[in-house]
Amino acid sequence: MRKALIYLDSQDRKQSAQLLEVIRRIYGDGGAKTYAAAFGGNLEAIKGFFDEVHQFQMPDGCAYDMRLKASYIKQLHDKESFSCIVIPATFEGRMMAPILAVKLQTGLVADVTEVTGEDGSVRMVRPAFDGKLMAVIENEDSDIVMMSARLSAFQYKQARIRDTKIVYHTPDIEGEPPIKVIAEGRKQSTEDIRDAEILVSGGGGVMERFPSLHQLAEPLHAMVASSRRLVDSGITPRSIQVGQSGKTVSPRLYIALGIYGSLQHIEGLDHVEDIISVNINRNAPICSLSSIVVEGDAIEFIEKLSTKIKKEKEKQL
Ligand SMILES: Cc1cc2nc3c(=O)[nH]c(=O)nc-3n(C[C@H](O)[C@H](O)[C@H](O)COP(=O)(O)OP(=O)(O)OC[C@H]3O[C@@H](n4cnc5c(N)ncnc54)[C@H](O)[C@@H]3O)c2cc1C
Repeated sequence: MRKALIYLDSQDRKQSAQLLEVIRRIYGDGGAKTYAAAFGGNLEAIKGFFDEVHQFQMPDGCAYDMRLKASYIKQLHDKESFSCIVIPATFEGRMMAPILAVKLQTGLVADVTEVTGEDGSVRMVRPAFDGKLMAVIENEDSDIVMMSARLSAFQYKQARIRDTKIVYHTPDIEGEPPIKVIAEGRKQSTEDIRDAEILVSGGGGVMERFPSLHQLAEPLHAMVASSRRLVDSGITPRSIQVGQSGKTVSPRLYIALGIYGSLQHIEGLDHVEDIISVNINRNAPICSLSSIVVEGDAIEFIEKLSTKIKKEKEKQL
């Protein structure tokens, strides 16, 4: 029987287990023996989903050492010969996957959003060219199918049925750990765009004029957010980036100012009730998702709308 392995992200083991859906789509129900590789932590949430879970206790100071984790998974692969290895496309998984691929001397398909398996060949779909194209990649003759897959794209709906065998490993490392942890702590944040009811969000169409967004956000009691274009340009902090490599937000109203609406940006919008987009190009993809589209300059829109809101408020005083 074929064997398939899923790497469990240490920040989100339960969600990583959803990638069993990838295995199911490739091999069918019960078509492969399923394994999980976990590094420390509690396994309660994932018991009953896998045939075997291999739990590695990381030596002190090595929790962030992806090379070491990849070495342990390679040792497991040398013993079990997996025909498929799936890694969540999270921050952690994206660091680990290429290291493991090099160790296994195999190819890696990154950021997979769709998978089909037929007659021994596996087809994987992933966004390309900033999400403007979807690339279909077929695995024809490699012994191992290896991919990183997006957690938001797969949901495993099977009931827990299996008795999971748990195998504990406490590997030793020689010498000093290569990474020294000096301090650990959570970053303090006073405001989180994920809590916002209304988000006023800016993109490449506003660039250096981004501070003007506060002019509109303030009277609406909204928070400001941005696309990655502004984060990469050093205009806004990553903490307010919406999208696949930023945050997933669910405000009642999302006002998209000068945002094109790439797949990676849209992925960060979950159950948003209404989108208002302001764009000089009415054919930008975000417009087709919007309840209201304003064709025109975003800064002019901010100035006109904020002045109108201010006047309305003054009338009410
Ligand atoms: C692996 C990966 C992960 C990514 N993750 C993210 C992510 O998490 N979040 C994210 O946002 N992106 C992400 N991206 C980048 C993404 O593909 C796009 O490049 C980015 O979203 C584009 O940002 P934008 O729409 O603001 O800018 P642009 O693509 O530059 O679009 C600007 C828009 O503004 C309009 N415009 C121009 N001038 C004006 C004006 N004066 N008034 C009104 N409208 C105007 C234009 O018509 C256009 O539609 C990722 C890419 C990759 C490869």
